[in-house]
Amino acid sequence: MNARPRPQSEALFDAAQALIPGGVNSPVRAWKAVGGTPVHVARGYGPLVIDVDGYEYIDLVMSYGPLMLGHAPASVTEAIIEAAERGTTYGAPTGGEVQLARKIVELVPCVEKVRLVNSGTEATMSALRLARAHTGRDALIKFDGNYHGHGDSFLVKAGSGALTLGEPDSPGVPKALAELTLVADYNDLASVEALFDQNPDRIAAVFVEPVAGNMGTVPPVAGFLEGLRELCTRHGAVLVFDEVMTGFRVARGGYMERCGVMPDLVTLGKVIGGGLPIGAYGGRAELMNQVAPAGKMYQAGTLSGNPLAVAAGVAMLNELSEPGVYEGLEATGARLERGLLAAAAKHGVPMVVGRVGSMLCPYLAASEVTTFGDVMASDRARWVPFFHGMLERGVLLPPSPFEAWFLSTAHDDATIDQVIEAADGALAAI
Ligand SMILES: *Cc1c(COP(=O)(O)O)cnc(C)c1O
Repeated sequence: MNARPRPQSEALFDAAQALIPGGVNSPVRAWKAVGGTPVHVARGYGPLVIDVDGYEYIDLVMSYGPLMLGHAPASVTEAIIEAAERGTTYGAPTGGEVQLARKIVELVPCVEKVRLVNSGTEATMSALRLARAHTGRDALIKFDGNYHGHGDSFLVKAGSGALTLGEPDSPGVPKALAELTLVADYNDLASVEALFDQNPDRIAAVFVEPVAGNMGTVPPVAGFLEGLRELCTRHGAVLVFDEVMTGFRVARGGYMERCGVMPDLVTLGKVIGGGLPIGAYGGRAELMNQVAPAGKMYQAGTLSGNPLAVAAGVAMLNELSEPGVYEGLEATGARLERGLLAAAAKHGVPMVVGRVGSMLCPYLAASEVTTFGDVMASDRARWVPFFHGMLERGVLLPPSPFEAWFLSTAHDDATIDQVIEAADGALAAI
């Protein structure tokens, strides 16, 4: 099958590369993992995006998670327009931010107080500072393959050999800071226990994506989150669930609602902004009261609690509070999972699907994927022609085998069946 010509996208990408590093404002958008010219989007509605060359695609990127209702849902769009007509930012408190904070406190079980910021990255950086302030300790534990935004303390990989000190995963991250980040294996409680034992009274926090969503979609194995809770309590460390992706995605109250394990702090983002830039961190009042001006831990933001973002967020969360929304998303996810597995089996392509509700990732692998090692061992080379085969058949996937696919309430059964039909063709061809 010949790639369809996309001259407008190509011209824009050429221009962008002269103006913006790599031509994009976030690396994954450059399609380095799949090759070719990224689709430049002109508009989106419902489950679809239209590119600048006029092609229509079923979108499974969904802006990497925020768009639970599809593109341009009327309720959110109207809320943004109404808010904009009253002014876009004041640098003063507003009723809208109180409304959004109340929703979050009501719906997310571990949250008694919440602070709004402008991105998930800001949320995790701030939660880390709070954990350090609270414990008086400097080190943290994170997991290989989990992503917590681009803050210095999180762009760290495991050190080599017996050393448990982390190493910078990007130039520009100070070695001295990276050494404070200890890296454990996701879904391997023993690796966390060992780090606690080797570093008594040094660990301020454990950061975890309760469902790992930045290495595809890898749910926690039985006992893993419970074990982290127990270790943090025993060692006086703060347990932080990074639910920037899973918050209001896998359940209204995030994954903690589904698993019943309560972290001390949670970070949120993506869905709570209804598609506008936002982030949040929250938890028990005793912890959150240490944030300025209630307490001494400094954190601030000129555009934090932005009126447009909170209006979009409140409209989004109102829609998600309607009965049956998450049951519908679960059914949609299950339908796609079944269809993908059936198509793969038909064409003799080994596939396992990691899925929690409306986030999922098909791995080209023969056996269950529970660790970052399993993810890396999946057939990434064969995934590339699969991506392009889907694109040619009108389905836009995230341009990397490590990114989750996201569904929305706008993806109806007929849309899902079109995706499955495209997968049938794409899998037959690889
Ligand atoms: C997206 C994401 C972030 C970063 O959020 P940004 O808004 O991109 O800064 C942090 N943690 C997780 C789990 C995410 O999925």
